[in-house]
Amino acid sequence: MTRNPIPYGRQHITQDDIDAVVETLQADYLTQGPKIKEFEEAFASYVGSKYAVAVANGTAALHLCALALNVKPGDKVITSPITFAASANCVRYCGGEVHFVDIDPKTYLIDINEVRKLLESSPQGTFKGIIPVDFAGRSVDMEQFRGLAEAYDLWIIEDSCHAPGGYFVDKEGERQFCGNGSFADLSIFSFHPVKHIAAGEGGMITTNSEKLYRDAMMLRTHGITKDKNAFRNDLTMANGTEGNTDYPAWYMEMQDLGFNYRLTDFQSALGHEQLKRAPEGIKRRRQIARTYEECFKSKGFIKGQSGVVEGHAYHLYVIEVEDRLGLYNYLRSQKIFAQIHYIPCHLMPYYKAQGWKEGDLPNAETYYRKCISLPMYPTLTEEEQNFVIGQVVSYYEGT
Ligand SMILES: *Cc1c(COP(=O)(O)O)cnc(C)c1O
Repeated sequence: MTRNPIPYGRQHITQDDIDAVVETLQADYLTQGPKIKEFEEAFASYVGSKYAVAVANGTAALHLCALALNVKPGDKVITSPITFAASANCVRYCGGEVHFVDIDPKTYLIDINEVRKLLESSPQGTFKGIIPVDFAGRSVDMEQFRGLAEAYDLWIIEDSCHAPGGYFVDKEGERQFCGNGSFADLSIFSFHPVKHIAAGEGGMITTNSEKLYRDAMMLRTHGITKDKNAFRNDLTMANGTEGNTDYPAWYMEMQDLGFNYRLTDFQSALGHEQLKRAPEGIKRRRQIARTYEECFKSKGFIKGQSGVVEGHAYHLYVIEVEDRLGLYNYLRSQKIFAQIHYIPCHLMPYYKAQGWKEGDLPNAETYYRKCISLPMYPTLTEEEQNFVIGQVVSYYEGT
Protein backbone atom coordinates (compact mmCIF):
# COMPACT_ATOMS: atom_id res chain seq x y z
CA MET A 1 0.00 0.00 0.00
CA THR A 2 1.35 3.42 -0.88
CA ARG A 3 0.57 5.95 1.71
CA ASN A 4 0.16 9.69 1.26
CA PRO A 5 2.57 11.83 3.24
CA ILE A 6 1.07 12.91 6.59
CA PRO A 7 1.91 16.52 7.43
CA TYR A 8 1.56 18.05 10.92
CA GLY A 9 -1.24 20.27 9.73
CA ARG A 10 -3.14 21.02 6.55
CA GLN A 11 -6.12 22.83 5.14
CA HIS A 12 -9.42 21.24 4.14
CA ILE A 13 -11.00 22.72 1.00
CA THR A 14 -14.53 21.64 0.07
CA GLN A 15 -16.68 22.22 -3.00
CA ASP A 16 -18.55 24.93 -1.05
CA ASP A 17 -15.26 26.76 -0.54
CA ILE A 18 -14.46 26.53 -4.24
CA ASP A 19 -17.94 27.71 -5.19
CA ALA A 20 -17.70 30.70 -2.84
CA VAL A 21 -14.37 31.76 -4.34
CA VAL A 22 -15.50 31.25 -7.95
CA GLU A 23 -18.67 33.22 -7.31
CA THR A 24 -16.61 36.09 -5.91
CA LEU A 25 -14.20 35.98 -8.85
CA GLN A 26 -17.20 36.43 -11.16
CA ALA A 27 -18.70 39.27 -9.12
CA ASP A 28 -17.93 42.99 -9.28
CA TYR A 29 -15.26 43.20 -6.60
CA LEU A 30 -12.06 41.22 -6.25
CA THR A 31 -11.05 43.48 -3.38
CA GLN A 32 -12.63 46.28 -1.32
CA GLY A 33 -16.04 44.76 -1.89
CA PRO A 34 -18.83 43.33 0.28
CA LYS A 35 -17.26 39.94 1.14
CA ILE A 36 -14.81 41.51 3.54
CA LYS A 37 -17.44 43.02 5.78
CA GLU A 38 -19.49 39.80 5.68
CA PHE A 39 -16.47 37.82 6.83
CA GLU A 40 -15.63 40.36 9.53
CA GLU A 41 -19.16 40.30 10.93
CA ALA A 42 -19.34 36.52 10.92
CA PHE A 43 -15.94 36.26 12.58
CA ALA A 44 -16.78 38.81 15.27
CA SER A 45 -19.92 36.86 16.03
CA TYR A 46 -17.97 33.57 16.16
CA VAL A 47 -15.53 34.81 18.79
CA GLY A 48 -17.99 37.14 20.51
CA SER A 49 -16.27 40.49 19.90
CA LYS A 50 -17.91 43.78 18.92
CA TYR A 51 -15.56 44.53 16.04
CA ALA A 52 -13.36 42.66 13.59
CA VAL A 53 -10.91 43.94 10.96
CA ALA A 54 -9.80 41.57 8.19
CA VAL A 55 -6.20 42.02 7.08
CA ALA A 56 -3.63 40.50 4.72
CA ASN A 57 -2.12 38.06 7.25
CA GLY A 58 -1.59 37.49 10.97
CA THR A 59 1.70 39.38 10.95
CA ALA A 60 0.02 42.45 9.45
CA ALA A 61 -2.64 42.11 12.16
CA LEU A 62 0.07 42.21 14.83
CA HIS A 63 1.78 45.18 13.18
CA LEU A 64 -1.47 47.17 13.00
CA CYS A 65 -2.21 46.39 16.65
CA ALA A 66 1.20 47.65 17.71
CA LEU A 67 0.64 50.81 15.65
CA ALA A 68 -2.88 51.33 17.00
CA LEU A 69 -1.49 51.04 20.55
CA ASN A 70 1.17 53.56 19.62
CA VAL A 71 4.23 51.41 20.33
CA LYS A 72 7.22 53.77 20.08
CA PRO A 73 10.99 53.35 19.94
CA GLY A 74 12.26 52.13 23.30
CA ASP A 75 8.85 50.89 24.56
CA LYS A 76 9.27 47.59 26.38
CA VAL A 77 6.79 44.81 25.64
CA ILE A 78 6.53 41.34 27.18
CA THR A 79 5.86 38.15 25.21
CA SER A 80 6.51 34.41 25.19
CA PRO A 81 9.62 32.82 23.68
CA ILE A 82 7.60 29.79 22.55
CA THR A 83 5.72 31.34 19.67
CA PHE A 84 6.09 32.20 16.02
CA ALA A 85 8.53 35.10 15.69
CA ALA A 86 5.84 37.48 14.43
CA SER A 87 4.37 37.78 17.96
CA ALA A 88 7.60 39.53 18.97
CA ASN A 89 8.54 41.13 15.67
CA CYS A 90 5.54 43.46 15.64
CA VAL A 91 7.11 45.31 18.58
CA ARG A 92 10.37 45.68 16.66
CA TYR A 93 8.54 47.05 13.58
CA CYS A 94 7.66 50.03 15.76
CA GLY A 95 11.11 50.29 17.33
CA GLY A 96 10.05 48.79 20.67
CA GLU A 97 12.03 46.30 22.73
CA VAL A 98 10.92 42.73 23.29
CA HIS A 99 11.18 41.25 26.77
CA PHE A 100 10.68 37.47 26.71
CA VAL A 101 9.34 35.83 29.86
CA ASP A 102 9.72 32.08 30.39
CA ILE A 103 6.93 29.55 29.90
CA ASP A 104 5.12 27.38 32.41
CA PRO A 105 6.49 23.88 31.67
CA LYS A 106 3.06 22.32 32.21
CA THR A 107 0.97 24.54 29.91
CA TYR A 108 3.73 25.81 27.57
CA LEU A 109 2.11 29.24 27.92
CA ILE A 110 3.90 32.34 29.18
CA ASP A 111 4.13 31.95 32.96
CA ILE A 112 1.97 34.60 34.56
CA ASN A 113 3.79 34.23 37.87
CA GLU A 114 7.07 35.05 36.15
CA VAL A 115 5.40 38.03 34.47
CA ARG A 116 4.13 39.22 37.85
CA LYS A 117 7.58 38.85 39.42
CA LEU A 118 9.12 40.86 36.60
CA LEU A 119 6.55 43.63 36.94
CA GLU A 120 6.87 43.73 40.73
CA SER A 121 10.64 44.04 40.53
CA SER A 122 10.66 46.76 37.85
CA PRO A 123 9.89 50.45 38.37
CA GLN A 124 6.23 51.23 37.56
CA GLY A 125 5.93 52.20 33.89
CA THR A 126 8.89 50.10 32.69
CA PHE A 127 6.66 47.98 30.46
CA LYS A 128 3.98 49.27 28.11
CA GLY A 129 2.26 46.10 27.05
CA ILE A 130 2.09 42.34 26.92
CA ILE A 131 1.44 39.91 24.07
CA PRO A 132 0.27 36.57 25.53
CA VAL A 133 -0.02 33.74 23.01
CA ASP A 134 -2.70 31.02 23.09
CA PHE A 135 -0.02 28.53 22.17
CA ALA A 136 -1.10 25.29 20.45
CA GLY A 137 -4.73 26.38 20.88
CA ARG A 138 -4.79 26.55 24.66
CA SER A 139 -6.15 29.86 25.87
CA VAL A 140 -4.16 31.81 28.41
CA ASP A 141 -6.20 32.90 31.43
CA MET A 142 -7.03 36.33 30.10
CA GLU A 143 -8.90 37.30 33.24
CA GLN A 144 -5.66 37.06 35.22
CA PHE A 145 -3.70 38.90 32.55
CA ARG A 146 -6.32 41.67 32.57
CA GLY A 147 -5.82 42.00 36.31
CA LEU A 148 -2.06 42.40 35.85
CA ALA A 149 -2.58 44.81 32.98
CA GLU A 150 -4.79 47.01 35.16
CA ALA A 151 -2.33 46.97 38.06
CA TYR A 152 0.66 47.85 35.89
CA ASP A 153 -1.03 49.98 33.23
CA LEU A 154 -0.25 47.64 30.34
CA TRP A 155 -2.11 47.11 27.12
CA ILE A 156 -2.73 43.53 25.91
CA ILE A 157 -2.54 42.11 22.40
CA GLU A 158 -3.70 38.50 22.57
CA ASP A 159 -2.07 36.39 19.85
CA SER A 160 -4.89 33.91 19.20
CA CYS A 161 -3.58 32.57 15.89
CA HIS A 162 -3.76 29.04 17.28
CA ALA A 163 -7.11 29.36 18.98
CA PRO A 164 -10.13 30.67 17.09
CA GLY A 165 -13.05 28.98 18.86
CA GLY A 166 -10.91 28.15 21.91
CA TYR A 167 -11.83 29.43 25.35
CA PHE A 168 -10.93 29.44 29.02
CA VAL A 169 -13.32 29.21 31.95
CA ASP A 170 -13.37 32.36 34.10
CA LYS A 171 -13.82 32.70 37.87
CA GLU A 172 -17.62 32.69 37.48
CA GLY A 173 -17.47 29.48 35.48
CA GLU A 174 -18.28 31.26 32.20
CA ARG A 175 -16.62 30.33 28.92
CA GLN A 176 -14.51 33.21 27.64
CA PHE A 177 -13.68 32.75 23.97
CA CYS A 178 -10.29 33.78 22.63
CA GLY A 179 -10.50 37.19 21.05
CA ASN A 180 -13.90 38.06 22.52
CA GLY A 181 -12.69 41.53 23.45
CA SER A 182 -13.58 41.24 27.14
CA PHE A 183 -9.98 41.19 28.38
CA ALA A 184 -7.48 41.97 25.63
CA ASP A 185 -7.39 45.39 24.01
CA LEU A 186 -6.87 43.68 20.68
CA SER A 187 -6.67 40.03 19.59
CA ILE A 188 -5.29 38.66 16.36
CA PHE A 189 -5.80 35.56 14.21
CA SER A 190 -4.16 34.07 11.12
CA PHE A 191 -5.72 32.31 8.14
CA HIS A 192 -2.56 30.62 6.90
CA PRO A 193 -3.45 27.13 5.62
CA VAL A 194 -2.01 25.29 8.62
CA LYS A 195 -4.27 27.26 11.01
CA HIS A 196 -7.92 26.44 11.73
CA ILE A 197 -9.39 28.63 9.00
CA ALA A 198 -7.59 28.84 5.67
CA ALA A 199 -7.77 31.83 3.34
CA GLY A 200 -4.43 31.30 1.55
CA GLU A 201 -3.04 34.19 3.51
CA GLY A 202 -5.16 36.29 5.81
CA GLY A 203 -5.61 37.63 9.28
CA MET A 204 -8.14 39.20 11.61
CA ILE A 205 -8.04 41.71 14.45
CA THR A 206 -10.86 41.68 17.01
CA THR A 207 -11.62 44.25 19.69
CA ASN A 208 -14.42 45.77 21.73
CA SER A 209 -12.89 49.24 21.56
CA GLU A 210 -14.48 51.48 18.95
CA LYS A 211 -11.42 53.72 18.91
CA LEU A 212 -8.95 50.88 18.32
CA TYR A 213 -11.30 49.46 15.69
CA ARG A 214 -11.36 52.76 13.80
CA ASP A 215 -7.60 53.16 14.06
CA ALA A 216 -6.98 49.62 12.78
CA MET A 217 -9.43 50.15 9.88
CA MET A 218 -7.68 53.34 8.87
CA LEU A 219 -4.15 51.96 9.20
CA ARG A 220 -5.14 48.93 7.11
CA THR A 221 -5.75 51.25 4.15
CA HIS A 222 -2.81 53.70 4.06
CA GLY A 223 -4.12 55.78 6.98
CA ILE A 224 -6.91 57.00 4.73
CA THR A 225 -10.42 57.79 5.95
CA LYS A 226 -13.61 58.46 4.00
CA ASP A 227 -15.61 59.33 7.12
CA LYS A 228 -16.68 62.91 6.67
CA ASN A 229 -17.22 63.38 10.39
CA ALA A 230 -13.50 62.75 10.85
CA PHE A 231 -12.27 65.09 8.08
CA ARG A 232 -9.80 67.75 9.10
CA ASN A 233 -9.56 69.84 5.94
CA ASP A 234 -12.37 72.33 5.35
CA LEU A 235 -15.00 72.24 2.63
CA THR A 236 -13.36 74.88 0.49
CA MET A 237 -10.13 72.90 0.27
CA ALA A 238 -11.99 69.61 -0.24
CA ASN A 239 -14.15 70.94 -3.08
CA GLY A 240 -11.49 73.14 -4.61
CA THR A 241 -14.03 76.00 -4.62
CA GLU A 242 -15.86 78.11 -2.07
CA GLY A 243 -19.51 77.97 -1.19
CA ASN A 244 -20.26 74.21 -1.18
CA THR A 245 -22.21 72.72 1.70
CA ASP A 246 -20.85 69.17 1.64
CA TYR A 247 -17.71 67.19 0.90
CA PRO A 248 -17.59 65.81 -2.67
CA ALA A 249 -18.02 62.08 -3.13
CA TRP A 250 -14.41 61.51 -4.23
CA TYR A 251 -12.97 63.14 -1.17
CA MET A 252 -10.85 61.25 1.33
CA GLU A 253 -8.04 62.15 3.69
CA MET A 254 -4.81 60.43 4.59
CA GLN A 255 -4.47 61.28 8.26
CA ASP A 256 -1.88 58.83 9.45
CA LEU A 257 0.95 56.76 7.96
CA GLY A 258 -0.76 53.46 7.22
CA PHE A 259 -0.20 50.47 4.95
CA ASN A 260 -2.00 48.38 2.37
CA TYR A 261 -2.81 45.42 4.59
CA ARG A 262 -6.18 44.57 3.05
CA LEU A 263 -7.61 41.10 2.57
CA THR A 264 -9.18 40.49 -0.86
CA ASP A 265 -12.83 39.64 -1.41
CA PHE A 266 -12.11 36.16 -2.75
CA GLN A 267 -9.94 35.37 0.27
CA SER A 268 -12.69 36.70 2.52
CA ALA A 269 -15.22 34.49 0.75
CA LEU A 270 -12.98 31.47 1.35
CA GLY A 271 -12.34 32.41 4.97
CA HIS A 272 -16.05 32.95 5.59
CA GLU A 273 -16.97 29.59 4.10
CA GLN A 274 -14.26 27.89 6.17
CA LEU A 275 -15.47 29.68 9.29
CA LYS A 276 -18.85 27.94 8.93
CA ARG A 277 -17.08 24.60 9.38
CA ALA A 278 -14.73 25.76 12.14
CA PRO A 279 -16.81 24.32 14.99
CA GLU A 280 -16.80 20.87 13.34
CA GLY A 281 -13.06 21.19 12.84
CA ILE A 282 -12.48 21.85 16.53
CA LYS A 283 -14.67 18.92 17.50
CA ARG A 284 -12.61 16.63 15.31
CA ARG A 285 -9.33 18.11 16.64
CA ARG A 286 -10.49 17.40 20.19
CA GLN A 287 -11.24 13.78 19.25
CA ILE A 288 -7.79 13.39 17.73
CA ALA A 289 -6.24 14.84 20.89
CA ARG A 290 -8.19 12.43 23.07
CA THR A 291 -7.06 9.49 20.96
CA TYR A 292 -3.41 10.54 21.25
CA GLU A 293 -3.83 10.97 24.99
CA GLU A 294 -5.47 7.59 25.44
CA CYS A 295 -2.74 5.82 23.50
CA PHE A 296 0.20 7.63 25.08
CA LYS A 297 -0.86 7.86 28.69
CA SER A 298 0.59 4.47 29.58
CA LYS A 299 3.82 5.23 27.72
CA GLY A 300 6.41 6.56 30.12
CA PHE A 301 8.65 7.77 27.32
CA ILE A 302 6.12 10.38 26.23
CA LYS A 303 5.17 13.45 28.17
CA GLY A 304 2.19 14.88 26.43
CA GLN A 305 -0.44 17.51 26.64
CA SER A 306 -1.95 15.25 29.20
CA GLY A 307 -5.43 15.56 30.61
CA VAL A 308 -8.23 17.02 28.53
CA VAL A 309 -8.07 20.79 28.82
CA GLU A 310 -11.46 22.42 28.51
CA GLY A 311 -11.64 24.94 25.67
CA HIS A 312 -8.42 23.79 24.01
CA ALA A 313 -8.63 24.42 20.26
CA TYR A 314 -5.75 22.01 19.43
CA HIS A 315 -4.05 23.82 16.60
CA LEU A 316 -1.12 21.60 17.59
CA TYR A 317 -0.67 18.37 19.46
CA VAL A 318 2.71 18.54 21.16
CA ILE A 319 4.50 15.72 22.97
CA GLU A 320 7.82 15.88 24.78
CA VAL A 321 10.24 12.98 24.27
CA GLU A 322 13.88 12.04 24.70
CA ASP A 323 15.83 11.51 21.48
CA ARG A 324 13.48 13.88 19.70
CA LEU A 325 15.80 14.18 16.69
CA GLY A 326 15.81 10.40 16.26
CA LEU A 327 12.03 10.25 16.42
CA TYR A 328 11.67 13.16 14.01
CA ASN A 329 13.96 11.54 11.44
CA TYR A 330 12.34 8.16 11.86
CA LEU A 331 8.87 9.63 11.32
CA ARG A 332 10.13 11.44 8.23
CA SER A 333 11.39 8.15 6.86
CA GLN A 334 7.80 6.92 7.25
CA LYS A 335 6.50 10.06 5.48
CA ILE A 336 5.10 11.47 8.70
CA PHE A 337 6.10 15.11 8.75
CA ALA A 338 6.00 16.08 12.39
CA GLN A 339 7.21 19.59 13.18
CA ILE A 340 8.89 21.51 15.98
CA HIS A 341 7.01 24.43 17.57
CA TYR A 342 8.97 26.44 18.28
CA ILE A 343 12.67 27.17 18.26
CA PRO A 344 12.71 29.63 21.19
CA CYS A 345 12.40 33.11 19.79
CA HIS A 346 15.03 34.59 22.09
CA LEU A 347 17.65 32.24 20.60
CA MET A 348 17.08 33.41 17.05
CA PRO A 349 20.27 35.20 15.97
CA TYR A 350 18.25 38.38 15.49
CA TYR A 351 17.13 38.41 19.13
CA LYS A 352 20.52 37.20 20.36
CA ALA A 353 21.90 40.33 18.76
CA GLN A 354 19.55 42.25 21.06
CA GLY A 355 21.23 40.69 24.08
CA TRP A 356 19.33 37.42 24.65
CA LYS A 357 21.36 34.29 25.21
CA GLU A 358 21.18 30.59 26.01
CA GLY A 359 20.28 29.95 29.63
CA ASP A 360 18.07 33.06 29.91
CA LEU A 361 14.80 31.10 29.74
CA PRO A 362 15.46 27.57 30.99
CA ASN A 363 11.90 26.23 30.76
CA ALA A 364 11.55 27.29 27.13
CA GLU A 365 14.96 25.85 26.31
CA THR A 366 14.27 22.52 28.04
CA TYR A 367 10.92 22.32 26.30
CA TYR A 368 12.59 22.96 22.95
CA ARG A 369 14.98 20.05 23.40
CA LYS A 370 12.06 17.62 23.69
CA CYS A 371 9.00 18.98 21.88
CA ILE A 372 7.55 17.61 18.67
CA SER A 373 4.14 18.35 17.14
CA LEU A 374 2.33 15.29 15.79
CA PRO A 375 -0.15 15.45 12.90
CA MET A 376 -3.30 17.35 13.94
CA TYR A 377 -5.92 18.44 11.43
CA PRO A 378 -9.60 17.60 10.92
CA THR A 379 -9.16 15.39 7.85
CA LEU A 380 -6.51 13.20 9.49
CA THR A 381 -8.19 9.79 9.27
CA GLU A 382 -8.45 7.32 12.11
CA GLU A 383 -6.29 4.92 10.12
CA GLU A 384 -3.63 7.58 9.58
CA GLN A 385 -3.65 8.57 13.23
CA ASN A 386 -3.26 4.95 14.28
CA PHE A 387 -0.33 4.65 11.89
CA VAL A 388 1.28 7.74 13.45
CA ILE A 389 0.75 6.40 16.97
CA GLY A 390 2.08 2.98 15.99
CA GLN A 391 5.22 4.49 14.48
CA VAL A 392 5.91 6.70 17.52
CA VAL A 393 5.47 3.77 19.88
CA SER A 394 7.50 1.36 17.78
CA TYR A 395 10.37 3.87 17.55
CA TYR A 396 10.76 3.65 21.34
CA GLU A 397 9.59 0.12 22.04
CA GLY A 398 10.77 -1.60 18.88
CA THR A 399 8.42 -3.69 16.79
C1 LIG B 1 0.83 31.95 12.17
C2 LIG B 1 1.16 32.80 13.32
C3 LIG B 1 1.39 34.18 13.22
C4 LIG B 1 1.52 34.90 11.92
O1 LIG B 1 0.46 34.72 11.05
P1 LIG B 1 0.69 34.85 9.46
O2 LIG B 1 -0.71 34.86 8.94
O3 LIG B 1 1.47 33.67 9.02
O4 LIG B 1 1.40 36.14 9.22
C5 LIG B 1 1.58 34.89 14.39
N1 LIG B 1 1.57 34.30 15.60
C6 LIG B 1 1.38 32.98 15.72
C7 LIG B 1 1.36 32.39 17.09
C8 LIG B 1 1.18 32.19 14.59
O5 LIG B 1 1.01 30.87 14.74
